[in-house]
Amino acid sequence: IPVEFRQALPVLEKIIDAGYEAYFVGGSVRDVLLGRTIHDVDIATSAYPEEIKALFPHTIDVGIEHGTVLVLAGKSEAEHYEVTTFRTESQYTDFRRPDRVDFVRDLKEDLKRRDFTINAFACGPDGEIIDCFDGLLDLKERRIRAVGDAHERFNEDALRIMRAMRFSASLDFSIAPETFNAMKSHAPLLKKISIERIFIEFDKLLQEKSYKKGLSALSTSGAWRYLPGLDQKALHHLHYDFMDDFYFKSSKQAWTALLTRYQKINVPAFLKQWKVPNDFIKDVALLFKAYQKEQWDLESLYRYGLSRVLLIDDLKEGQGQSVDKNRAKLLDSCLQIHHKSELVVSGNDLLSRFSALHPGPKLGALLKTIEEKVVQNELKNEKNVLFEFARAELEKNEK
Ligand code: ATP
Ligand code: MG
Repeated sequence: IPVEFRQALPVLEKIIDAGYEAYFVGGSVRDVLLGRTIHDVDIATSAYPEEIKALFPHTIDVGIEHGTVLVLAGKSEAEHYEVTTFRTESQYTDFRRPDRVDFVRDLKEDLKRRDFTINAFACGPDGEIIDCFDGLLDLKERRIRAVGDAHERFNEDALRIMRAMRFSASLDFSIAPETFNAMKSHAPLLKKISIERIFIEFDKLLQEKSYKKGLSALSTSGAWRYLPGLDQKALHHLHYDFMDDFYFKSSKQAWTALLTRYQKINVPAFLKQWKVPNDFIKDVALLFKAYQKEQWDLESLYRYGLSRVLLIDDLKEGQGQSVDKNRAKLLDSCLQIHHKSELVVSGNDLLSRFSALHPGPKLGALLKTIEEKVVQNELKNEKNVLFEFARAELEKNEK
């Protein structure tokens, strides 16, 4: 039993001592069996939410209509556990959410509604694994297989198609043939899934070490057709233009790489279709621009910032280009300022110093020139130097 489960054991035992069943379930059990680090420990129980709330002094209703109560067993986040009542989901008339969830007292009913066999384990207080759908065999054979009838399962919830590809990328697993065939035939149902939820899965897929496995599945299943703006050729490039051991270091880096694989692209328009936040769009648009630059100079370090520049270097290196990794850092260390606000002379300083100067475009242009010259190290970022320069510029203008 790993430390995370051992820490949660008192919670499990308290529920059991009160006469209910309780198990560790979901991704954490899978990850323990694979020897991977686990993020969140989820508990499933035969106790109803009200019964859980009666047992523990500190709880939060995080999703009581789905049967989930957050139990605060300690102060730290790591000691907060989602405890969910065994449930079944009936009818998915909108292909998105179950019409109703019913609480049940039987573990197997709960495991049956889960997406993949490797996500449908339960683990009891003694560490015994309950495996109703041969998930252990699938773990061993390293494959993603739907619980029960794959067609039914994707028909109920088409997001599972994205999840299958995402897990294939994160675990480096294949997808079982009958599951894959069902993904193919139900891919058009992705049109019914909210783009925000699809983004979460696709974005995670891109950041996994085996993202290429996920991309192959996306491409060969035809599911890419139902994701906004995707182009099979661009996906193909994203797959084959990068070295074998390359992986994306951040979400924004991955989306930048995808966008640079298009012949012609309007970055903001493309990303708006995915309903991502505006600062995400802005950041990726900057990275995209930085990518077009052949060689770094002081101006590009100032404009894009070192961390973006290094992400682009990493991308280009991943494509087998030879990159001088020290150049960016060296240029950055030569910059006197990294932001306009670091100029020692402000617009107000200039206005109070020179009575001939007034707020307006002239002042803006002067400040811009000063900023550029400081970035290029043509002027020292020192008060007397910048005032002297301003005086000379104003005199030149008068003549
Ligand atoms: P991760 O490590 O990425 O968190 P996870 O397996 O914990 O993976 P979650 O999205 O956190 O995935 O979901 C927890 C569990 O809930 C899953 O393991 C699975 O049993 C179940 N589950 C989640 N989403 C679905 C779904 N769309 N359909 C069926 N079962 C689901
Ligand atoms: Mg999880």
